[in-house]
Amino acid sequence: MGAYQVLIVGAGFAGSEAAYRLAREGVRVGLLTQSLDSVMMPFLPPRPPFPEGSLLERAYDPADERLWAFHARAKYLLEAERNLHLFQATATGLLLEGHGVVGVSTWEGPPVRAERVVLAVGSFLGARLRIGEVEEEAGRLSEASYPDLFQHLLALGFRFLEREGEVPETPTTPGYRVRYRAFHPEEWEAATFRLLRLEGLYALGLCVREGDYALMSQEGLRLAEHLLHELG
Ligand code: FAD
Repeated sequence: MGAYQVLIVGAGFAGSEAAYRLAREGVRVGLLTQSLDSVMMPFLPPRPPFPEGSLLERAYDPADERLWAFHARAKYLLEAERNLHLFQATATGLLLEGHGVVGVSTWEGPPVRAERVVLAVGSFLGARLRIGEVEEEAGRLSEASYPDLFQHLLALGFRFLEREGEVPETPTTPGYRVRYRAFHPEEWEAATFRLLRLEGLYALGLCVREGDYALMSQEGLRLAEHLLHELG
């Protein structure tokens, strides 16, 4: 594939939902995420109600609440969409031309070009995960948070708030907390999802607003509707 019409960074609940809907409407979408093993990976099992017709609803199986099984069903649905290219890479910065964003640079090397770039990076900007006395750079259990993209955004002048989330102990995982950065509300326009500092740049999901899986999915669908309108 050449340049994407829309490139989404982060295949979590919000980014995956948006990519799925856009691709089903015929938009050429790239969905770039740092690990294919964590596509749409929940902290705890999702619980309905979910937005009707959403990817979240399709991937949910009340008879099988295993997190890995939910992730596998969602990934399969994404991979089966012909206009959607799901691939593993870590975004390290934005490619800029004038005041506009034309893609992202990646840790792996090849730049990825797109007409529009959406940051849907969840709890991974400047993230610190704490289990008891142990602290590490991670946005979720077993998933590192790399500093490059966050440092790049800081250097461009973006402002952030600090947020925190907690995961209770379960029979198979320890309890832990994640501290992360979200874009400052003045950087983001809720109606258009735009990060106002640069043209062609949008943000979605937990990196701009708090909420549960259903809200993240709803926001993904709302972004898709907005971009479909913009793309005509
Ligand atoms: P995520 O689902 O986190 O997805 C972001 C994706 O972006 C990740 O897959 C990550 O790998 C990828 N990524 C990050 N940086 C890069 C990069 N530079 N390049 C490429 N890919 C990148 N909500 C609930 O309903 N139930 C819960 O139990 C729950 N528990 C939570 C626990 C914690 C600790 C936190 C912080 C939040 C929790 N939430 C929960 C709230 C929220 O619903 C979830 O965090 C949800 O996963 C957010 O969706 P998202 O798409 O914004 O981000």
